[in-house]
Amino acid sequence: MSESRLRAEVADYARRLHARGWVANHDGNLTARLGEGRYLATPTATSKAAIDGASLLIVDESGARVSGSKKPFGEIGLHLTVFRARPDVHVVVHAHPPTATGFAVAGVGLDRPMIAEAVVSLGPGVPTVPFAAPGEASCRALAPFVENHDAVLLAHHGVLAWGADVEQAFLRLELVEHLARVALVAHQLGGVRPLPEFALGALLESRRKAGLGRAASAAATEKAPRAVIACAPPPPGSDVVLVEDRRPRASAIASPGDLATIIRQEIAAALKK
Ligand SMILES: [Zn+2]
Repeated sequence: MSESRLRAEVADYARRLHARGWVANHDGNLTARLGEGRYLATPTATSKAAIDGASLLIVDESGARVSGSKKPFGEIGLHLTVFRARPDVHVVVHAHPPTATGFAVAGVGLDRPMIAEAVVSLGPGVPTVPFAAPGEASCRALAPFVENHDAVLLAHHGVLAWGADVEQAFLRLELVEHLARVALVAHQLGGVRPLPEFALGALLESRRKAGLGRAASAAATEKAPRAVIACAPPPPGSDVVLVEDRRPRASAIASPGDLATIIRQEIAAALKK
């Protein structure tokens, strides 16, 4: 993709963060890998409603500005922590969507498997990164969660999600906010009841077959067409059992066209048992 097209796409999704009500004031930020240690980044002190392609900066591996008129945002280190650990990731997005951020503020997790499709898309749960002061400490807190997850709650802060492209990263953030809204209703109705254990094995297997989960790193190494995601391990103390990590070869990874069909069939089969 050309730099000008990527700029337009990043700016479009930045404005969507504002349109969805997931940011206020100057909150939220997006970055996209340009290659050779260069990243497009939204500028600091700017409403996401006002972002256009020309207002994006380019920063280097240290987060220092290479080009652009405004300064990089202060949370750039979180984005670079993800890019360094995940060569398959090309876009990182951060926002403060109110419901998911409410969970992060209340200390209530989204780390239990609730909805079949979400288990396939994000793994058994969305972990919460413990609170740490902005800067190096927050990067160190995030680092252990990057390899095996694609979206996290940041305690007392918001949501960070990443993906192979802008749309995928944005949709993962959208899914976290949606799960939080579902969980909030469930709490009002008596609490979240996790998916039955018998369904999880098949869902995680379909996740593996779809090239999601830990296959992401293998796919990236083998230059598969659209490398994606990481498999969320079961939360501590959970009785969820992960399927065996049998990394598929690139040729065994489903094309995006097959993906939806495989996921639908596997979920339907798992829920019929
Ligand atoms: Zn933030």
